[in-house]
Amino acid sequence: MKVMTQEQIWQSVLAQIKLNVSSANFATWFANTRISDLEEGVLTVSVPNSFSKEWLEQKYKTDILKIIRSVDSSIKDIEYIIAPLKKSFSTNTVKINKEEEQLGFSEFEKDEETNLNPKYNLKNLIIGPFNEMAHAAGEAIIDNPGEVYNPLFVYGGVGLGKTHLIQGIGNRIRSLHLNKKIRYIPAEKLITDVVNSIRENKVEELKKEFKSIDVLIIDDIQFISGKTKTQEEFFHIFNVLYQNNKQIILSSDKHPGSIGALTDRLKSRFEGGMIADIGMPDLETRIAILKQKAEERNFNLSSSALEYIASNIQKNVRELEGALNKIIITEKITKKPATLDDIKKQLKNIISVKTKITTPEKIINTIFDFYNLDNQELFVNSRKKEFSRPRQLSMYLLKKELKLSYSAIGRKFGGKDHTTVMHSCSLIEREYAENQKFSQEVEMVLQRIYSE
Ligand code: ADP
Ligand code: MG
Repeated sequence: MKVMTQEQIWQSVLAQIKLNVSSANFATWFANTRISDLEEGVLTVSVPNSFSKEWLEQKYKTDILKIIRSVDSSIKDIEYIIAPLKKSFSTNTVKINKEEEQLGFSEFEKDEETNLNPKYNLKNLIIGPFNEMAHAAGEAIIDNPGEVYNPLFVYGGVGLGKTHLIQGIGNRIRSLHLNKKIRYIPAEKLITDVVNSIRENKVEELKKEFKSIDVLIIDDIQFISGKTKTQEEFFHIFNVLYQNNKQIILSSDKHPGSIGALTDRLKSRFEGGMIADIGMPDLETRIAILKQKAEERNFNLSSSALEYIASNIQKNVRELEGALNKIIITEKITKKPATLDDIKKQLKNIISVKTKITTPEKIINTIFDFYNLDNQELFVNSRKKEFSRPRQLSMYLLKKELKLSYSAIGRKFGGKDHTTVMHSCSLIEREYAENQKFSQEVEMVLQRIYSE
């Protein structure tokens, strides 16, 4: 008979244990164990922590011993020692990430030719008051690309379904118009392509390539803010496509008028077609979305659980999906259906932390980024509207969200007088009430402040 190495003995023991315990228990208690010694009939196994040691000694000792003896009858006893692995519980985390990947959309899957992810389609996009206009505009385009709204400019906050919608439109056009050349490009990719083509002296080739496209979809176009070269080239590409009745679809996290450092001529091109915003889904829609996502994953959620999750996670759909994934994974690991109380516990972090807590720094930095400002000094002191407006908004939100005193806010902005701060806050308050575009912008800023 071939003599097994210690490692082989342990592997075959583990294989048998695996048949007898749930996979969650196996991952928790056995996956990070190693054989460390076998001497005089005593097998020493190293485990990652004292918790595992106790558990294995108390709960599994006789079972394990039985299995071991069936593999090697000379073994009389088993001992556990603690030898922390570099990354303890690494197996667990890997497992969860993998499952999470399987549960969600695979973001990396895409069609070679169009660069579209086939999983984003219009059938699994839930329509509600918050996105129906953008969706209707998309539907209109699908039948006659390039002939109705050009460009279609879709904007809205993070995780509200912009990418899903514009890719869904692309996929639909592709299935209906087989001879059309469709291309989906994230703006970051557009920027690197332009930069590389300039470096390699291939700008004309790049433009030629673009000009052959029938439906051009650019995601997160706000990233071209401040990218002069890209804006210049894109302006020409845009014009050629537009003049030839080729469809252009753009998404952005803000209205074209609010994208900072964008040339006026591009701004007016972006505003020249149909602008459709996507807002926050209402409670009913959130329930519908959650229900659908659960069904897609063959998962059963009670109506009270659906309602609890949907009423507590309001800010964005991605978070809603994240919560669902968390519940599904936990249920897989524990092997028992979650009660509403379990769910409340599981989602405690997501719900209480994410929706309520922020800091002055977070508010100020978010606004600074949102408006693509790059100069702290001007942000604090300039009278130019592009700086003063974001500054006033920061003051207003420090007051409204954190209830800081006017003078404390003044100190954050280079020691401004409290009357100046009061004046700023009331300016913003009025603007917010009177100007719908501005109030939407504020909502988006708020969403970002509370989204991470
Ligand atoms: P954005 O591009 O606006 O940041 P995404 O399109 O990436 O948002 O959406 C985030 C996630 O939420 C995706 O998994 C998407 O499928 C899902 N989602 C967003 N809106 C909807 C909706 N109306 N119906 C179904 N799923 C949605
Ligand atoms: Mg997106």
